[in-house]
Amino acid sequence: MLLPEPLEPGLYIVATPIGNLGDMSPRAAETLCRVGLIAAEDTRVTAKLLRHIGSTRPMTPYHDHNADQARPRLIERMRSEAVALVSDAGTPLISDPGFKLVRDARAAGIAVTTLPGPCAAIAALTLAGLPTDRFLFAGFLPSKPGARAAAIDELKGIRATLVFYESGPRLGAALAALAEGLGPRPAAVTREISKRFEEAVDGDLATLAARYADAGPKGEICIVVGPPGDAPAATADDLDTALRRALASAPLKTAVAEVASALGLPRKQVYARALELSGR
Ligand code: SAM
Repeated sequence: MLLPEPLEPGLYIVATPIGNLGDMSPRAAETLCRVGLIAAEDTRVTAKLLRHIGSTRPMTPYHDHNADQARPRLIERMRSEAVALVSDAGTPLISDPGFKLVRDARAAGIAVTTLPGPCAAIAALTLAGLPTDRFLFAGFLPSKPGARAAAIDELKGIRATLVFYESGPRLGAALAALAEGLGPRPAAVTREISKRFEEAVDGDLATLAARYADAGPKGEICIVVGPPGDAPAATADDLDTALRRALASAPLKTAVAEVASALGLPRKQVYARALELSGR
């Protein structure tokens, strides 16, 4: 049997299907048949994919627990051989290992090639029916309630659609925390994308939280949350009320900074009004 011609040495980032093997691109399949070595998150998972595409190339594990030891060895191999990186499903580096491998390969002068393909976050955005002109991929929320609430609080002011990865058992708690932290916003729970039971359930966050409160659905899930609505512009009365309150408990400079940020007004305008109100 003739072995396929090897590829040029370097690192090849190869996206793989997130459920439907038909989404494997011919270029990705050819690459996985021609590299010298495949670094895989879980070699048992990738073995199934390799069988499907007829690749007999050797694999080595590359995951969160061995990455620091494995990385230098892999970089050395890339000097003389083509090495592919794959994760269990989807695009490597996106809530999956690989960023440090790419960073170190680039620093070592290794050629890095990416083979784009399926990514659950992008697929979820295309299903959700929410604005896609600006979005922020927020990965997995922390599972502990305090850390989760803090993470959501950081995202609250961002004027973009938010995309989260989540698991069925944690879905209800995550939606309840999002409803509490972000207020009423349109959202969608997308599930099992590209598989037999693919679905997208939309509704506002509180409705979705109630729907999934008792039991999370099976399968792989992305939550997509629409951007905050346009806040009405602050009026002169709003400014005076906020400034009087802030000036009562803080020095002028601090009060101005707080109010400007809270009302989204230029600091210069708030400063001028603060001087008037405080009679200076
Ligand atoms: N790197 C992968 C990618 O590009 O999609 C994501 C890896 S992350 C460890 C796995 C998470 O992606 C799952 O927990 C789920 O939130 C989401 N996911 C993966 N496959 C999915 C699918 N078919 N439908 C919906 N979400 C999926």
